[in-house]
Amino acid sequence: MTKEVKKKGIEIGAGIVLYLTVWAASVQTGLNRQEETTVFLLPYIVLALETYKSLFRQIIKLRFPDEDLLIVIATVGAFFVGRNKEAVAAMLFYQVGKMIEEISMSRTKKSIAEFIDIRPEYANLKTGGMEEIVLPQDLKTGQTIILRPGGRIPVDAEVTAGTGTVDTKAITGEAEPKVVGPGDRIYSGCINLSGVLEAKVIRLYKDSTAEKVIELVERANEKKSDSLHFADRFTRYYTPIVILIAFVTILVLPMMFTGEREEWIYRGLIILVAACPCGLMVSIPMAFLGGIGSASKYGVLFKGSAFLEDLTKVDTFVFDKTGTLTEGVFHVQKIVPSQMTEEELLEKAVLGEAYSMHPIAVSLREAYGKTIDRARVKGISDFPGYGLRAVVDGKEVYIGNSRLMKKRGLFYQPVTEVGSAVHVAVDGKYAGYILISDAIREDTEKLMKWLHRRGLSTVMLTGDNERVAEAVAKQLGIESVYAELMPEDKVEQIEDFMESRMEDEKVAFIGDGINDAPVLARADIGIAMGGLGADAALEAADIILMEDEPSRIISAIRIARATLRSVKQNMIFAIGMKVILIALAFAGYVTMQNAIIADMAVMLINIMNSFWMMKYPE
Ligand code: ADP
Ligand code: MG
Repeated sequence: MTKEVKKKGIEIGAGIVLYLTVWAASVQTGLNRQEETTVFLLPYIVLALETYKSLFRQIIKLRFPDEDLLIVIATVGAFFVGRNKEAVAAMLFYQVGKMIEEISMSRTKKSIAEFIDIRPEYANLKTGGMEEIVLPQDLKTGQTIILRPGGRIPVDAEVTAGTGTVDTKAITGEAEPKVVGPGDRIYSGCINLSGVLEAKVIRLYKDSTAEKVIELVERANEKKSDSLHFADRFTRYYTPIVILIAFVTILVLPMMFTGEREEWIYRGLIILVAACPCGLMVSIPMAFLGGIGSASKYGVLFKGSAFLEDLTKVDTFVFDKTGTLTEGVFHVQKIVPSQMTEEELLEKAVLGEAYSMHPIAVSLREAYGKTIDRARVKGISDFPGYGLRAVVDGKEVYIGNSRLMKKRGLFYQPVTEVGSAVHVAVDGKYAGYILISDAIREDTEKLMKWLHRRGLSTVMLTGDNERVAEAVAKQLGIESVYAELMPEDKVEQIEDFMESRMEDEKVAFIGDGINDAPVLARADIGIAMGGLGADAALEAADIILMEDEPSRIISAIRIARATLRSVKQNMIFAIGMKVILIALAFAGYVTMQNAIIADMAVMLINIMNSFWMMKYPE
């Protein structure tokens, strides 16, 4: 229980005791109207003090007062017309409502905090032959740490000795532990399950995965969604309108209708109470927080509640091919040298790609298998979407696709087989090509089927050639394909799609975040895969899939839809109930107490609906 909740509980308890005492006393002693008002002010003040304080703070800050104003006017008015008991009761129930609000909000926050409780507490630093326990914050890159089974990994590191298994569930939602050994990267926040590992620190604590993820989830609530804005705007207009209706009831109606003046005042005050939108106001942020929280359990990070709402409006999903739909791990199919051996051609290519992070480069190095002497490579320039240039053993080497060859005016052998050809030219002479191909990710198909069944369109963008693009698209049933795109063409293409949409139809781009940062940033919603270890993805994207599994998008969409559904249900229900209650109050069928009890019931139902959604997204 939080401090606020306890404090509120004490206030309410004291208020109830005083209220009952005063009531009993007033019945026995038979006070006159003035005296009765005075004694009932006692429990009232105990209950209402905090509300008055916060109202006062809002007014000095020139902020528009919220529902506190409604209840204050209503109860003060009730005292004036001699409805003392009801004034106190109304304030009492209002405070009970506030407490329920407080409890459910703190419970929601707690369940998210539990998820993000992935902070490592200490690290075992290896110094000389000794081991020292230090704070993760004190580790520097290059230092060696020792990881024992059961411990949380303190910083992102690379294993240098030992093998073991690592549980990444807290970060990625992946149930299956990963086997790691020398050369593998391990990420902070994950847990070492078995094996003693030695690892070299590759990132400072503050730049490591756990801290980044925590930051993102904590900040997520700052980016408000349209629905939240709607709720804010709604109270802004709603409160004055309700006050106006109430005043009309109090001041104007008694002149038009017959009846007691005090009776109309009382009805006006009940309208104020009945109109109080408190329940609605809590349930909306709660639903969004809940959505973000349950998504994170599936390894899907929303960077803001706005993206939950936007995701439900996406009707076109645009995918990057390499590394997103496909594994991004190329296998060498064929080496076709010209005037050198296969081995020599592969070596040239691998040396040229020695420093590149492109999936093609990584795969070629893998295929080559041997260690490379990076000292032989100099003067590298990257041509994104084409390939690269490097000076290997003093010779100028161009490595890339046919477009690169054309651009440099180099002769090359056209390739017709399905696969991506990596052409190599040495000192202006063609040296042959390496045909590579990439496998479609296993779970991509599942996602595509799911999207197509729901009538959502799918598009593929790729820098790769037409033949490969068509083959992949055909296998996955993707409707439109744009191949041989430069990185900037991809941005343009996304802009085109976004322009041709209606206001509330959104375009999502899904990429692996490695060379797609500009597109991820530009799309209505950028979804990056492989949040583990990829800084670019964490920065540029709006939604991050911690694991390289496109099908996680299904969970993301389901949760987003469930959240929005519960928000809408809550809004309709709450507003509907308010309208009915106001009408009944106007007609004189509701007492002030009943109005506030009804409001509490609405709030409870709304909160339960939000909680339900959190537990059972679908
Ligand atoms: P994708 O859209 O498929 O992710 P990129 O924009 O990263 O592709 O690259 C487009 C094309 O440019 C690749 O298919 C490849 O032909 C060529 N290319 C880019 N970088 C390299 C590289 N380092 N080595 C060889 N070819 C490259
Ligand atoms: Mg790519």
